[in-house]
Amino acid sequence: MAKKKKSDKTILYKITCGQCSEHLYNYRKNGKGALLRCYVSGIYDAPKAIMEKLNEANTKSEIPNIHCYKCNTLIAVPTVVKKNGKLALRMIQGGFHREKI
Ligand SMILES: [Zn+2]
Repeated sequence: MAKKKKSDKTILYKITCGQCSEHLYNYRKNGKGALLRCYVSGIYDAPKAIMEKLNEANTKSEIPNIHCYKCNTLIAVPTVVKKNGKLALRMIQGGFHREKI
């Protein structure tokens, strides 16, 4: 029997600042579970300058820390996910809000 994927459901989130509610970016998440990190490949609808940096980054040092564009609260820091070596943003708990869209 074919092995069934745990979850292939995609959930879209709107990520906003936890302090001032500024819209930061949207995120395409695979499967359920807490939003501890955002894979760079799932991030969209961020300001152009941020999107360019994310899309061109090959290593985590090329990704800037993400601060709120308005109030400068720290939202996320770059990381590499151990299990697959993919670039991601590690979300600062309490620094952001998420909302299903
Ligand atoms: Zn803010």
